[in-house]
Formats: sequence, C-alpha cells, structure tokens
Amino acid sequence: MPELPEVDWCGRSLARWSAGRRVVAVEVLDPRSIRAHRTARPTDGHPNGRAAVEAVVLGRPPGPMERHGKRLLWTFGARALLLHLGMTGRWTRAATSFPKVRLHLDDGPPLTFGDPRLLGGVVPLELADGRAALRDELGPDALTDPLPPFRGRRPIKVVLMDQAVVAGLGNLHAAEALWRAGIAPTAPAESIVGARHTALAAGVHAQLEFARRLLDADEEVAYVEDAGAANPFPLYRRGGEPCPRCAGPIVRDVHAGRSTWWCPGCQT
Ligand SMILES: [Zn+2]
Repeated sequence: MPELPEVDWCGRSLARWSAGRRVVAVEVLDPRSIRAHRTARPTDGHPNGRAAVEAVVLGRPPGPMERHGKRLLWTFGARALLLHLGMTGRWTRAATSFPKVRLHLDDGPPLTFGDPRLLGGVVPLELADGRAALRDELGPDALTDPLPPFRGRRPIKVVLMDQAVVAGLGNLHAAEALWRAGIAPTAPAESIVGARHTALAAGVHAQLEFARRLLDADEEVAYVEDAGAANPFPLYRRGGEPCPRCAGPIVRDVHAGRSTWWCPGCQT
C-alpha cells in the first residue's frame, strides 16, 4: 500500500518520465477516477473529467511536482493535477491491471494510472486551489518537517498513522519506525517526550530513507502486498521470526484494526 516513500517515488518518476516532453492526449478509461475535488469516493467522479484534465495538461509543459504526506501536486503552469494513490493506485509506464487514466506523451510510452480499488484519483485544479488541497487537513510532513509533539493517551502507533497529526506514515512504515526507535507501538503518545521523541524522529527518518533507497533500485514501483513481491522489511509479516536486533520473537498484534508486527524484547 502506498505510503510516503512510495508516493514520493511516484512523483519523482512522473517528473523524470515526462521531462522535456508534452502531454498530447488524455485517455480516461474509467471516469470515476477523475474527481471534482479531493475525495476518496468513486461516486464523486468529475462530471466532465476528461475535458477538465485536458485543460490542465495540454498546451503547457509538465512543471515541478510538489508533495505533502501521501499527496502529490503535479503543476502545469497556473493549473495542476492533485494525485492521490489511495490504497492500490500506482502510476506506471508499463502495462497495468485496472488502468483508469492514461496520459499520452509526444515521445516515449504513455503514463498510466492503475487503481483496482478506486480509492485514489486525479483532481484537476487551479494551482492555488491545488496547493491548498495538497495540505488540507494534514499535519506536518513525516519526511521534510520536524516530528510534532504528541499528546493524549492513544497508542503511539495509532497516532503516527493519523494524517492530521503527521502526514505520510501508514501501517507498515509506522511500525518499522517504532522498532527502529525501540518504542512499543502501545506506548501512550504523551509518553513520547525527550530522548524518546528524539529517537522516534530519527527512527521515522531512517525508515523513510531506507524505503526510498529500496525504491530507487527499481524502474517500476512494487508494493510489498503485490503477489510475488520481495519483503525487505525486518518485522513486517515476520511473526515468530527472531528480531534482528535482540533475537527475541517478533509478535503480531492488532491495533485499531490493523496488524502490527513488533518486538516486545526491545521495544518498550
Ligand atoms: Zn528485538
């Protein structure tokens, strides 16, 4: 499932694939993937989606990509496309299952948005509206902003996944960052102060950089949930295996409905 590193990879890849090129045609294979505003609901499809995307991308060169948390804003002069990947979305130059939107370039393979679950999408906007939507209801970015102070007694793993507190972490990278920091996923958020807060900030950053380096080795993005995908993570889906740090058994618990793999031996 795409989290900050996968979204970041997507943005950098789209920018690289389109550098020096122009979009010459927009193909909408599923109108539900073009949204009139920022929403995960396929029923909120844009009534005139193809024309709205064409009004953004045709006739002006692709500009810089902006990112906040798990959202991307692809700028085209005074207009932009807000891109969100949802749970299963990906942009690719390869053949993909469930293609939804395709941007044809004047040179090279087209850029295709595939999204089996339809929770992601493309939102054509004026640039100022796009910049507002990029950060709307989100906390600071998990990679580029300082980790905020935490309050309340909710488990820190749950709080790290709350996009209004810190934007970009999901189930996998939140759990792995906590392991790197030696902090139990069940620790109350308000207990993460001083040296523990410093350790968590370092753990989050190290985890996101680790994931970025893994992704940079590949020409196309792979999600760890993909059939046949490698699992390069020390804890994820490794219940019962020895912890790489203390050799104690990794356990799987469920927090707020999501599986968490962690090590009770070295996470406190
Ligand atoms: Zn351990």
